[in-house]
Amino acid sequence: MNIMNKSFSINAAVNIPAIGFGTYLITKDDVAAAVRSAIGVGYRHMDTAAVYDNEAGVGEGIRAGIKDNGLSRDDIFVTTKLWPGASEWGETAKTEVQTLAECEMSLKRLGLDYVDLYLIHSPHGGSQRVNQWRALVKLKQAGKVRSIGVSNFTEAHIEEIRAAGLPMPEANQIELHPWSQKPQLIAYMKQHGIAPIAYSSLAPLSTWRTGQDSAKPEDLKAGDNFFAVLAAKYGVTEAQLLLRWGIQNGYAVLPKSLNPVRMRQNLELDGFAIDDADMEAIIKMDRGGGIAWSMGDPTKVI
Ligand code: NDP
Repeated sequence: MNIMNKSFSINAAVNIPAIGFGTYLITKDDVAAAVRSAIGVGYRHMDTAAVYDNEAGVGEGIRAGIKDNGLSRDDIFVTTKLWPGASEWGETAKTEVQTLAECEMSLKRLGLDYVDLYLIHSPHGGSQRVNQWRALVKLKQAGKVRSIGVSNFTEAHIEEIRAAGLPMPEANQIELHPWSQKPQLIAYMKQHGIAPIAYSSLAPLSTWRTGQDSAKPEDLKAGDNFFAVLAAKYGVTEAQLLLRWGIQNGYAVLPKSLNPVRMRQNLELDGFAIDDADMEAIIKMDRGGGIAWSMGDPTKVI
């Protein structure tokens, strides 16, 4: 099976491509060209968010990519996210009405009539969290978004939605890679039919986010050469090994690269499969919580 055509089910009508293009930390100046190139080399899923401040450029790149390649809107899967408002950072949580308006603003910036997946970016909405979810349910009913989910939610956050008697999220976009495997959360999501979407798949690389504010601290760069040795065994790069690990676990992945060689390389995940013994060995590499931003104690409701 060609992985570029592979997808995972989100709901009865919506499948998410196994590989998407991440746009976090791509500036509004660079993002249109990056998205256009990404579509040119074969990416069919674009992941953005209101808080990335690049939705307008993502929309511009999508329109250019569609035109260049003779595609139509429905050939591209588009994800964007509600910024919920975080009191921890002096913000006010968005209400249900504000959430409906935020989605309209994202669609306007993207220049799209609908998105394929709309997520609550994080659980920081506190007492408004369930109201924000109510708004997402309405947005789906209104056809503004084809599927709805959450991001960075723990079991406890999702249980609030269940307790409110609302439809459950269809996806949860979380930091997932061999250093942060979250087995309990994944088991809970499986039990409730919530599709996992992996972000920061490449976090174990020593060069991850090099040159950016959120580059890794030195102590996280150091490590053994476990992934390098395994990648060499399969004749692939460490990045390809990490992305393939996600897909073999059933997670859609969202690699971000502004480098044309790496952008292509991250799509080339066919021609090898991590064998069962090595998948077992990778389970032992779990270090617990993520590093892209902390999800904190999984039992604690923010
Ligand atoms: P990634 O795991 O995609 O890693 C990106 C980093 O790896 C960059 O430094 C990039 O540099 C480098 N890189 C990319 N490809 C390769 C390669 N083949 N070999 C070596 N280095 C490589 O990190 P992100 O944190 O950006 O996560 C991916 C996407 O997930 C985001 O862009 C965003 O869309 C989403 N996300 C969602 C979050 C959420 O809270 N919901 C949080 C974080 C991310 P270069 O560009 O120079 O190639």
